[in-house]
This record gives sequence, C-alpha cells and structure tokens, in this order.
Amino acid sequence: MNFQYTEKSLELQSRLKDFLKKQILPADEEVEAFDRDPANLWIKWPGLEKLKDAARKEGLWNLFLPRDYGDFSPGLTNLEYAPLAELMGRTRWASEVFNCSPPDTGNMEVLARYGSPEQQKKWLEPLLEGKIRSAFLMTEPEVASSDATNMETSIVPDQGDYLINGRKWWSSGAMDPNCKIAIVMGKTDFDAPRHQQHSMILVPMDTPGLQIIRPLSVFGYLDSPEGHAEIVLESVRVPKSNLILGEGKGFEIAQGRLGPGRIHHCMRLIGMAQRSLELMSARATSRSPFGRSLDTYSSIRQEISRSACEIEQARLLVLSAADRIDRVGSKSAKELISMIKIVVPAMAANVIDRAIQIMGGKGVSGDSPLAHFYAAARSLRLADGPDEVHLSQLGKSTIRKYGQAND
Ligand SMILES: Cc1cc2nc3c(=O)[nH]c(=O)nc-3n(C[C@H](O)[C@H](O)[C@H](O)COP(=O)(O)OP(=O)(O)OC[C@H]3O[C@@H](n4cnc5c(N)ncnc54)[C@H](O)[C@@H]3O)c2cc1C
Repeated sequence: MNFQYTEKSLELQSRLKDFLKKQILPADEEVEAFDRDPANLWIKWPGLEKLKDAARKEGLWNLFLPRDYGDFSPGLTNLEYAPLAELMGRTRWASEVFNCSPPDTGNMEVLARYGSPEQQKKWLEPLLEGKIRSAFLMTEPEVASSDATNMETSIVPDQGDYLINGRKWWSSGAMDPNCKIAIVMGKTDFDAPRHQQHSMILVPMDTPGLQIIRPLSVFGYLDSPEGHAEIVLESVRVPKSNLILGEGKGFEIAQGRLGPGRIHHCMRLIGMAQRSLELMSARATSRSPFGRSLDTYSSIRQEISRSACEIEQARLLVLSAADRIDRVGSKSAKELISMIKIVVPAMAANVIDRAIQIMGGKGVSGDSPLAHFYAAARSLRLADGPDEVHLSQLGKSTIRKYGQAND
C-alpha cells in the first residue's frame, strides 16, 4: 500500500480541519449541553442547519460516497475519505454537518448501488441533499441478532403490495423528527436456503402500522436528537416497488453495505481516540498532584505513550483495509474488515478509559466529551456485529489458510 495521501485528499483534509477549528469545535460544548438537556429531547440544535449550508457551499458534502457511484459521488476512494472520517470523529455530532453520518451513509450507499431509479429519485436525492434522514431496521429483540439469518420480521405479498409484521429495536436515528424513511430487513421466503430468505424494503416512517414504542438509552445516554428506537410493525402495507433489488437479496445487499461502513465507524473512533489522547496530554501538563506536574509521573507517560502506539497501529490497519477495498473490493478485503472491527472499538474504549482516568472526576462528567465518547466506543463492540462474531469468522478463515500447512 502507498502511504502517501493523494493531493485531493490532502486538500480536503486541510479544508475540513479549518472548518472544524473555526465552526465545529467552538460550538462543541454548547451542542453537547443542548442535546443532553431533557427540555430539548428530539429537537435539533438550532445552529445545525446553518453549519450544514456552510459545509455544502464549501464542497465538504457527501464526501463518503465512493467514486464508483457516478453522478452522486464527489469521487473519493475509501482511502482518500478515511482521514476525513477521522477528523469528523473528533466530535460526536460533526459528521451530520457534512452529510456523512450513520446510518444515512450506509443507507445512501444501498440506494445508490441497488435502488431503482424511482427509489433513488424519491429517497436517495433528498438524503443526498441532507433534507431528510433515515434508519436501518435489522435487529430484533426476540432473536439473537448477531446472526442476521435469525431475523423473523415477515414481508409477505398481499393484494399487489407487501405486508410487514415484526418488532425491531436499536433502530438508530429513528427518533429524529427528520427521519422519513427506514430500510427494513425481513423474510420474504421462509422455506428458501438460509441466506436467500431475507429481503430489504423501504418503509416510510409515517406508514400506518409503524409505531415507535420507546427510545433506548446507551449507558443512560438517549443520543438525542437521533436516538435508538424500539419499533413495532403491524400490518404495515407498502407497494411492491419499495422492495430493494429483489426478493431474497437481503444478504447480498448487507454485504455491500458493510465494508465501507466499517471503515467509516472505525476512522471516526480513531478520531475520538486521538482527541482523547490530546485531552489527556493537555490535562497532564496542567495538574500537579503531590507537588509535581502529572506529566512527570512515569505511569502517566506510559499511559499516554501506550495510547499513542495503539492509535497509530489501529489507524494503519484501517487505512490498509480501506486500500484493499479500493483495490479488490469488500469481499476480498473481508479479513481486514473483520480485523479493524475487532481491534478499533476495543482500542478506542481503552484509550478513552485512560483519558478519563487522567482527567479525574471531570472525565466522567458532562464537562468533557470523554464519558459520551466511551459509551459510543464501548457500544461499537456490540453494534455492527459483536467482537466474538468477527473473531470467530476471522479465526475460521485463518485456520483454513494455515491449519493444514502447519500439520
Ligand atoms: C448503540 C447501538 C446502535 C445500534 N444501531 C443499530 C441499527 O441502527 N440498526 C440495527 O438493526 N441494529 C443496531 N444495533 C444492534 C446491534 O447490531 C446488535 O445489538 C448486535 O448485532 C448484536 O445483536 P444482539 O443484541 O441481538 O445480541 P445477541 O445476538 O443476543 O448476542 C449477544 C452476545 O452473544 C455473544 N455471541 C454472539 N455470537 C457469538 C459467537 N459466534 N461466538 C461467541 N459469542 C457470540 C456476544 O458476546 C454477543 O454480544 C445497535 C446496537 C447498539 C448497542
């Protein structure tokens, strides 16, 4: 892999850094306080749209969409986009300013890649314009959802339409008042081979029968305004034209959705870890317990240097995965994609934990971003496939590759 970023990526990194410094980081504390205030539940911070307009005007918009998606794409490879995602990850809410936030990014990729012209016109265009937001409804409370073949929601033909019944939870983004469309995964054929039973279908959030039951919290955080919802789908009727790609294609779509999405998640986490490293270093030079500055204690230096090593290791691993996806596609980059999903959330949680410790009481309070960062990093050891699933898949393919050779 070539470790030199392209001119295009470097130029965007420089402009994005400048935008973050001037417009995002100065507002960080205000946004965090606004989003945590119960009086503002499910309401967007009023300054957000203005920042989105500014980002759009500066061409810092939809940067995530890979270059093979024609007209919709600003033309970046995964490797070119990865350092931009890292910069956005330095605050919890920056990605949305650039229309690069999950789950919209994954959903837009699905629609760009597999959507019909009609689906693209109706849902992809407003998503790309940042006018609406979306949710991805796969996980179900009643089944072990780390095995996606367990999903039981039914999508059955009925009088020329599809009728959907099921219960979903952890639907990120669904509490957002601007969330207008969901991609729902469910079964269209209960008797087909296991990986051909499921399909994905578009369900407008205002369809009768779709009911948000409650928001779920993550370590107590409601993550307003996007939230994570539990949703019941009861005799939800949508036209057949809402099906994406075709019956039984759910896993094919899921495969295509996941590769770049994991690069984005992991690079944002590296951005969080990097900011945590900077915060703990700054704190270490400004506090002096027992008559000496914290940064002169060997134990503190070790925590900081260990964190710097782990962040750089993880960064290089993710860039390597991004490069491989660009050169040979997500399927052939499968092992590296598993590796980053195993390594990065755990690394970020460890680094953030050290930063919390060095920060003292402030670290767990709302006066620093660390506690919320920790909740996000820790939950990504579960979301998008728990650690053990990736460890098991990677272990299996590694043993297949080397097992007999070492007999
Ligand atoms: C903050 C957050 C946001 C999320 N956002 C979304 C979203 O937008 N849309 C959506 O559909 N879902 C979302 N999820 C759900 C997430 O993807 C699931 O929680 C995850 O896939 C695990 O499914 P489960 O909770 O049913 O756990 P289960 O399948 O019940 O697994 C529980 C545990 O079993 C163990 N386990 C599982 N498989 C193995 C194995 N092969 N070997 C050993 N141990 C194993 C693991 O420790 C695992 O954590 C989100 C979750 C969180 C926490």
